[in-house]
Amino acid sequence: MSEYKKRRIVVAGGGTAGWMTAAALARTMGDSIELTLVESDMIGTIGVGESTIPPLVNYNRLLGIGEAEFMAATQATFKLGINFENWKLDGDTYFHSFGLTGRDHWSAGFQHFWLHGLTKGHQYSFDDYCLELKAAHAGKFAHLPENRMNYAYQLDSTLYAAYLRKLAEADGAVRIEGKIGRVELDGGNGNIAALVLDNGQRIEGDLFVDCTGFRALLIEGALHVGFDDWTHYLPCDSAIAVQTASVRPPIPYTRAIAHDAGWQWRIPLQHRQGNGIVYCSRYLDRDAALDRLITTLEGERLTEPNFIRFTTGARRKQWHRNCVAVGLSGGFMEPLESTSIHLIQRAILRLIRMMPMSEVSERDVAEFNEQQHTDMLQVRDFLILHYKATERRDSPFWRQCGDMEIPESLTQKIELFRETGRVFRKNEELFAENSWVQVMMGQGIMPQAYHPIATKLSDKELDHLLSGLRDSVAKTVASLPEHHAYVASYCGAR
Ligand code: FAD
Repeated sequence: MSEYKKRRIVVAGGGTAGWMTAAALARTMGDSIELTLVESDMIGTIGVGESTIPPLVNYNRLLGIGEAEFMAATQATFKLGINFENWKLDGDTYFHSFGLTGRDHWSAGFQHFWLHGLTKGHQYSFDDYCLELKAAHAGKFAHLPENRMNYAYQLDSTLYAAYLRKLAEADGAVRIEGKIGRVELDGGNGNIAALVLDNGQRIEGDLFVDCTGFRALLIEGALHVGFDDWTHYLPCDSAIAVQTASVRPPIPYTRAIAHDAGWQWRIPLQHRQGNGIVYCSRYLDRDAALDRLITTLEGERLTEPNFIRFTTGARRKQWHRNCVAVGLSGGFMEPLESTSIHLIQRAILRLIRMMPMSEVSERDVAEFNEQQHTDMLQVRDFLILHYKATERRDSPFWRQCGDMEIPESLTQKIELFRETGRVFRKNEELFAENSWVQVMMGQGIMPQAYHPIATKLSDKELDHLLSGLRDSVAKTVASLPEHHAYVASYCGAR
């Protein structure tokens, strides 16, 4: 057995990825590591990334973060899902909620029972059986016993990074301000030996975490792992973000509003609203995109437009030699389903699980890369679904999306659902059956059949099941407080 030597871990970059990594490592590994984070105030962070998904609640719990305090510090609101507008057709709307629709059954998802109900004359929408969805549309929220309402946050990412910085530093992380000018490699094994700052300071380490954002200074700049470009599946390559004053109380969901060459987001926080336009530069130029964004803003503009270019895709290796990519340095797929911060979280938890005892094990590296790659492919497929399964043909952008070739893994998922109503979750996939069902039906893919087990119920039993579930949702929603009032009383918002 090798003896444990205190590892020197260097985090390069202090955006959301850098500080999430530093805070989690410092809290969980304590003084068994020496932790340094380097960031450059001059370069700054990307300044977007405000909409999250439910696993972040667990990340915060792992760090022992008090929710009310965290929400006050980051001006966060609760999020119950995403409202997709104009995706299937211009004027059409559907909701992807974080909840369960109806009730789980080991043999067949609720959609099978609902579809059987349709053949028996039940007219109610699939939406009427989902608590999170109905609460979101009613603008309501409360914590319910046994986590009965599944939620995430909409937060100010700059404030979140600052909050995590305080935690990390209190737990022993050392922050160094400065610009990394050079990455020094060990001539013997090709590992990263040190980061050399512009002021000449040299920061040595045993393990380096690349959180330098799109620059990917370590994993690509120094180690050249390569990049898989997924632009042919996810064609948007540009975004513009602007913050505005709130014009109404914050709603508990994010809006994703499609336009003829991409989509726009609206993310309501306590103190302001995040807005942005995502587009494909082949079909919309920068000035027209800015104009479209500005003319659709509702409140007073608080910031200058933040122009961002990106290439959708992923690094071929997320961990190479003694360097792990976390955050945008590892790849980026689209903010559409708010998955980036989640992928950061998964990478951090994986890294903690595979923390080297002494030298980096190539087995760990291979395992990490495979697991991270699987996550990314699954998220990628789910995102492509939104673009591919559209009935829009009103612009060259949507015609390209509707006609594009898609990965076989996604074709299998879509066609299986279309033929049988079934969705299977494999390899701890992030998006479970209910997510796929809501988005596929929302985008217009309807099953042609359903599980025969649904027909085992008599008409009376079916009626009882469906009306019972609907009533329970409606009663619970009626009993909930308004979201904004709940946030204000929960975390002392003004
Ligand atoms: P950055 O924020 O870019 O941080 C990079 C850090 O590296 C900075 O501290 C910088 O100073 C430092 N750095 C770089 N070069 C040097 C150098 N030479 N020397 C020293 N330091 C250096 N994710 C979500 O989960 N939800 C969303 O709603 C969402 N919306 C998004 C919208 C858009 C348009 C985009 C592009 C992304 C969005 N994301 C979203 C992704 C999210 O913004 C990122 O995953 C998250 O902010 C993490 O970024 P990062 O820390 O990897 O990079």
